[in-house]
Amino acid sequence: MRVVVCGAGAVGAATAFFLAEAGADVTLVERADVACAASGKSGGFLALDWCDGQPVAGLARRSFALHEELAGRLPADWGYRRMTAYAGRETADPREGPVGWLGPVEIVQTLGGPDTTAQVIPEAFTRALAEAAVAKGARRVDGAVEGLVRGRSGAVEGVRLARRILEADRVVIAMGPWSILAAAWLPMPIIYGLKGHSMVLRTGDRLPAEALFLECEGPEGRATPEIFPRPDGNTYVCAISSQTALPMDPLDVGPDPGAFARLEAIVRRLAPALDDCPVVTRGACFRPVTADGWPLVGAVEAMPGAYVATGHSVWGILNAPATGEALAELIGTGSTAHVSLDALRPERLPPLHPGRLVTG
Ligand SMILES: Cc1cc2nc3c(=O)[nH]c(=O)nc-3n(C[C@H](O)[C@H](O)[C@H](O)COP(=O)(O)OP(=O)(O)OC[C@H]3O[C@@H](n4cnc5c(N)ncnc54)[C@H](O)[C@@H]3O)c2cc1C
Repeated sequence: MRVVVCGAGAVGAATAFFLAEAGADVTLVERADVACAASGKSGGFLALDWCDGQPVAGLARRSFALHEELAGRLPADWGYRRMTAYAGRETADPREGPVGWLGPVEIVQTLGGPDTTAQVIPEAFTRALAEAAVAKGARRVDGAVEGLVRGRSGAVEGVRLARRILEADRVVIAMGPWSILAAAWLPMPIIYGLKGHSMVLRTGDRLPAEALFLECEGPEGRATPEIFPRPDGNTYVCAISSQTALPMDPLDVGPDPGAFARLEAIVRRLAPALDDCPVVTRGACFRPVTADGWPLVGAVEAMPGAYVATGHSVWGILNAPATGEALAELIGTGSTAHVSLDALRPERLPPLHPGRLVTG
């Protein structure tokens, strides 16, 4: 079976990998670069049970196990490791706590330990999955998907790029927030893009495997920075979300004015011990969000051959593996073996009228 996967973020790369592993004839199409968007700029924090009680609980628990399994069986190293996670808040009167290197911060709760929380370096993880898909026979094609090709019956028969058509029996839309473009091609609910800012500091090996979810209030206003030391000697920090317009080209995504300076000021205040650590990268990206907050994963019932996998919001790196596995099962056999996708059916939300799609 020929399957075209549109978009090489974590979700598209994982889907291509599991499809290729199941023996499908896979083409992974990417408009800009593998992991160029949120999947290359996110925190990469993973939790077993933080989604319990939600429609994505099954996806999260299965994904948490798959992250460990994939790290063990694929050749690349993407920094997978278990860690401890703490919540803390800025205080003028810090007491001795478990995270000794922090400045004016009080740790108020242990959120998880090595049994339930872990991390990956998301860009390396996404690239490794795309490469593993290729190693299993998938093709990588550079180009922007501009539409679908449909047969007389209305079923999908391929995708249209600027100068060529890629024929396919099945097509998966996994273009992150740009999946909204597919509302012009098939019945598709609205997808929003919510912007986040991040930076990576070169901290060396001075920080332990401790993820921090903090609350602070300073001259920059109220913020909830997340700090994830990584096993490659870097430390990732993110905060400062905004609802700004999504540029049509993923490579045109830039920061809000002053956002990086605010983020850096927060880090320097909360962690003065890192004052001498240089910033190695700064990133702005949009996470894909649906109207009800849960991803869209599954077949588009009104258009045979079309599938959607997007809207994973703050848990797209965590939930990419089980999303890819479930879609590969659904496409290959008509049902899923490990997680139910019933609660994530794209049809649960009304489709966006193509006339409401404003681009440019
Ligand atoms: C600041 C921040 C921190 C985060 N931290 C975490 C975390 O700690 N843990 C976690 O689990 N999640 C986290 N997330 C969420 C996670 O990053 C996203 O949910 C996830 O990356 C979405 O992956 P995706 O593959 O759906 O989309 P994307 O990563 O956006 O990938 C979509 C791809 O589609 C391509 N594309 C677009 N248009 C086309 C086209 N027309 N044709 C072909 N290709 C196209 C794009 O170039 C892009 O490569 C975070 C998000 C943000 C913003």
